[in-house]
Amino acid sequence: MRGVVVIGAGHAGVEVAGSLRDGGYRGPVTLVGAEPHPPYQRPPLSKEVLADGGDPGALSLRADAYFADRRIALRTGPAVDIDRTGRHVHIAGGEPVGYDHLVLATGAAPRRIELAGRSLRGVAELRTLDDALALRTSLASARRVVVLGGGFIGMEVASAARKRGVEVTVIELGDRLLKRAVSPPVSAAVAAHHRAEQVRLWFGEQVVELVGSRGHVAGVRTAAGRVLPADLVVLGVGATAEDRLARRAGLATDGGVLVDQWLATSDPLITAIGDCAVVCDPATGGRRRLESIQNATDQGRYAAGRILGERRPYGAVPWFWSNQGALRLQLVGVAGESDQLVVRGDERRFSVFCLRSGRLAAVESVNDPGTHMAARRLMERMSPTEAELVAAGYDVRTLARRAMARETAVA
Ligand SMILES: Cc1cc2nc3c(=O)[nH]c(=O)nc-3n(C[C@H](O)[C@H](O)[C@H](O)COP(=O)(O)OP(=O)(O)OC[C@H]3O[C@@H](n4cnc5c(N)ncnc54)[C@H](O)[C@@H]3O)c2cc1C
Repeated sequence: MRGVVVIGAGHAGVEVAGSLRDGGYRGPVTLVGAEPHPPYQRPPLSKEVLADGGDPGALSLRADAYFADRRIALRTGPAVDIDRTGRHVHIAGGEPVGYDHLVLATGAAPRRIELAGRSLRGVAELRTLDDALALRTSLASARRVVVLGGGFIGMEVASAARKRGVEVTVIELGDRLLKRAVSPPVSAAVAAHHRAEQVRLWFGEQVVELVGSRGHVAGVRTAAGRVLPADLVVLGVGATAEDRLARRAGLATDGGVLVDQWLATSDPLITAIGDCAVVCDPATGGRRRLESIQNATDQGRYAAGRILGERRPYGAVPWFWSNQGALRLQLVGVAGESDQLVVRGDERRFSVFCLRSGRLAAVESVNDPGTHMAARRLMERMSPTEAELVAAGYDVRTLARRAMARETAVA
């Protein structure tokens, strides 16, 4: 028995390896990670690690003994090649390892943009613990930071920098923050929060050059000809799926590793999960790649179950959170092309109900964790119609309680 090899020791990889053992898998389990650190949590990298410092050891995803106790062999990679015919994974500087089943959990990498001055000192990006520690050091001596991109990571970095008293400007090409992820009312609340924290926001501006002085970044120049001084520039322009290994192995990819409803790639002996996977829905033809802890861990748990013989297609209601200083943002569902927005609450604490074709598709909560948790409980069970929401006065706690009571009665 060759067992299961998991490539990528991040949130998804650790989850599938641990769940295999916890589910009773007896064969060898090998977890191959490219990074030099034991598996760690990624969300704090743009939050506590930058804002408060703290001990990187506290970020460990699992206790030291976890892997040994479960007989999970940790190999430090990177994996460089997959021999699908011989069912082997080649690991840089080490012996190849054979598999019966292979799981790709290779995550994502910061989006590369062509930009003059990109390689100047003082230009940072943020994906790994090493990136975060380097950025924290830079922030300690920086006076003026420019963040390119008003997405989640860019805005979390902006908050952390302000907490350290650094001057911050965020330059966003679009006309609002978090445009791909949230509705306009939430974007407006996020912008108001950052403005109150003295973050300057520039919209509709494209940075065309990073200006240097003696090899260090000194400012940014926009297409409109504006020059903004900076001694630190953070590139927060999104991430792309890390699918190089899959492409090299001849697996089907398109903006990530293509998987079906069972999270199987074009090779049935290879599963892909987490940030690197694009799930194709045969019913709608739709494709979805998510970058979230919920998605990585749910897919990891699901993949372990399927390898152990469970027979049901993957399905989970997505949810996500982002903390930006005192602002708590929580999302459940997929707003996509919602055609109706209903806002409940006041400007300090509210939720936006996003409806599509008369049904609840997503709930976006700003400093409203109670509504978020109830909406999650509800949407995991049903997607109410507009009429049902109106009848309940958009009180998702009541609707969730009823849905749970119905479930118990049926069981
Ligand atoms: C700074 C930051 C903050 C975030 N904050 C939040 C948040 O608040 N909430 C939330 O829900 N999500 C957040 N996310 C997103 C979340 O962290 C990711 O969705 C999640 O980590 C995805 O898990 P994964 O296992 O798919 O990928 P990753 O956690 O990226 O792990 C993939 C691992 O695979 C390794 N790897 C890649 N190629 C190879 C190879 N060839 N061989 C061996 N190993 C390889 C990589 O080095 C990496 O360690 C954040 C992400 C970042 C970067």
